[in-house]
Amino acid sequence: MKRTAICPGTFDPVTNGHIDIVKRSLRIFDEVVVAVATNPRKRPLFDIEKRLSLVRDSVRDLSEVRVESFDGLLVDYVRRTGGAAIVRGLRAVSDFEYELQMALMNRRLDAGIETVFMMPNEEYSFLTSTIVKEIASFGGSVRGLVPPVVEEALREAFGGRSTAGAGE
Ligand code: ADP
Repeated sequence: MKRTAICPGTFDPVTNGHIDIVKRSLRIFDEVVVAVATNPRKRPLFDIEKRLSLVRDSVRDLSEVRVESFDGLLVDYVRRTGGAAIVRGLRAVSDFEYELQMALMNRRLDAGIETVFMMPNEEYSFLTSTIVKEIASFGGSVRGLVPPVVEEALREAFGGRSTAGAGE
């Protein structure tokens, strides 16, 4: 039986840090489902369809990766999907407290679902979707931090001002 990892998040937008975690998950699971939360309360920059399509384009070359949207309780979604574990990325100690809280609450909701944490390559340890949006909104370069399709989408979202290279 295939062991499936569920990588949940808002992915507003997907970054190379997220992709790093997906690739690491593929080393220990047979397949990965990237689960994009509808999350309207977070008021995302990109709507759910755009976030899904950006993730799909970004993982196109990775077989054994599926991209789906979900809303409601994550544990319900994981159960429906038959996932073996939830995989979350830990960038720094500052992520830990919130992630521990979520993992323990999810365990309380469904003791059969484990949460696994993975550390990204250190070059992504400072990378968040929020920072990427902020840089792009001020016309800074996000090259190398996000997949090219995301760079393009940010350029469109912020009116063509995210093209400047670092130091320009
Ligand atoms: P959420 O809104 O659920 O925090 P995100 O899209 O911000 O969703 O993040 C989804 C997952 O990806 C989380 O586990 C988060 O810790 C992880 N993540 C985000 N950015 C990085 C990064 N640069 N490196 C490693 N993991 C990351």
